[in-house]
Amino acid sequence: MDNIKPAINAAVDALKTGGRLCVISFHSLEDRIVKNEFRALTGVCVCPKDIPFCVCQKEAKLEILTRKALIPAAEEIEANPRARSAKLRAVRRV
Ligand SMILES: [Zn+2]
Repeated sequence: MDNIKPAINAAVDALKTGGRLCVISFHSLEDRIVKNEFRALTGVCVCPKDIPFCVCQKEAKLEILTRKALIPAAEEIEANPRARSAKLRAVRRV
């Protein structure tokens, strides 16, 4: 699990503008790390609310393409039971 965040950042930095990255995780704790890291890379300001202007200068690297994680359809789970816990999230480099 410690490797997920650096792996995502390395993959994102290797993308050209418009390039896409999809991550499939098989455990909810892994998926949470993926979700949080993707969100952190969308450049949403993380300044405290009592500061009148942005000082964090967060740079947007990603646009999130999957509002919610995609999960396999029932037919896929039947054909491949190990897919049942899979969650896919996709992003595009901006
Ligand atoms: Zn800010």
